[in-house]
Amino acid sequence: MNDRIFLDSAGSSLPPPEVLDEVVGHLRREAEVGGYVAAQEREDDLEAGYGVFAELLGASPDEVAFTDSSTRAWLTAFDAVPLAAGDRVLFSEAEYAGTAIPILRRAREVGATAEAVPSDEFGQIDVDALKDLLDERVKLVSLVHVPTNSGLVNPAREVAAAAHEVGALVLLDACQSIGQMPVRADELGVDLIAGAGRKWLRGPRGTGVLVVRRPAAERMRPRLIDLHSAEWVAPDEIRLRDDARVHEIWETNVAARLGLIAAARYALARGIDVIEREVGERAGRLRDGLDALPGVTVRDPGLRKAGLVTFTVDGVAPADVRDRLAAAGVTVTVSGASSALLDMTRRGLDEVVRASPHYFVEPAQVDQAVEAVAAVSRSAR
Ligand SMILES: *Cc1c(COP(=O)(O)O)cnc(C)c1O
Repeated sequence: MNDRIFLDSAGSSLPPPEVLDEVVGHLRREAEVGGYVAAQEREDDLEAGYGVFAELLGASPDEVAFTDSSTRAWLTAFDAVPLAAGDRVLFSEAEYAGTAIPILRRAREVGATAEAVPSDEFGQIDVDALKDLLDERVKLVSLVHVPTNSGLVNPAREVAAAAHEVGALVLLDACQSIGQMPVRADELGVDLIAGAGRKWLRGPRGTGVLVVRRPAAERMRPRLIDLHSAEWVAPDEIRLRDDARVHEIWETNVAARLGLIAAARYALARGIDVIEREVGERAGRLRDGLDALPGVTVRDPGLRKAGLVTFTVDGVAPADVRDRLAAAGVTVTVSGASSALLDMTRRGLDEVVRASPHYFVEPAQVDQAVEAVAAVSRSAR
């Protein structure tokens, strides 16, 4: 499908033709009949999309909302969780900067505290330490499922069970996990899930999804509302929608939404368990190959590992490794301390190279990528 070796599905993956056709086809149709008529023609498919994501994420269709990114989904949910002076928010040490920043800011603003939960010896969130930190003042636990900067998979189910003991809501940043492994609200027991389209799901850019479980919805106070999320029923009266779409606003990129739905259908048709196994094989092969190279250090903590493979090469800056691999036809990226500050600082890392092979990467291509890294490493010695 591509003569380059594409190892950046954790950044922005390659959409399959089914997704591309849906997006481009809809844009063409908008140019023919206008955006409103074009959307009306696809009303049933757009509606069915809630069911598709309900199936993918182990929720019901009325617990699903579409957004324009994972961050938007996360922010919308976070903003709706009531937080007052004296409350506490706990978050994972491998937290993404894009979610840690709003937590730190809002906690300061309202007089709440924001505390990172330590990691255990394997680099995962330490569930025993979490239990020690939890009390009834904790209103929210924010957990990154798979971080942006390593192959770690955090134990979401255990975290949710512990948090619920004190009545705290659990917001799962599943941006790096949806599309590469099962992420089901019903199985994990989390209250809120934010996910992206463009990463492992192979959807278009500018798409995201939010799951809000029913019991959590009753405790949330959505504030970013418009005439889609609420109705103006009398001069001084409004009525909020009573489903998760209260977290959506009216205007949306319909072509991208259709592409996102097509991407989810595509993933479900392949089978999420199959995808998880295939990604695991690729990533495992890559990790083992890199691990065996002198001068190369794999940097992935965690007991259970995802499709992100991070590493450093002695004597070569990660950005130079990336550029030299690019010249050799291998696409990887660099993850820096500023995107996961606590985790990177704790592990004494400034930058790592991140390679994230999806199932469409052939095992032989993985081996070629390992050989390309070996060449970079040899040249430094
Ligand atoms: C990419 C990423 C995000 C943000 O996703 P956007 O789609 O850019 O909003 C959030 N969390 C993690 C762990 C990520 O890797």
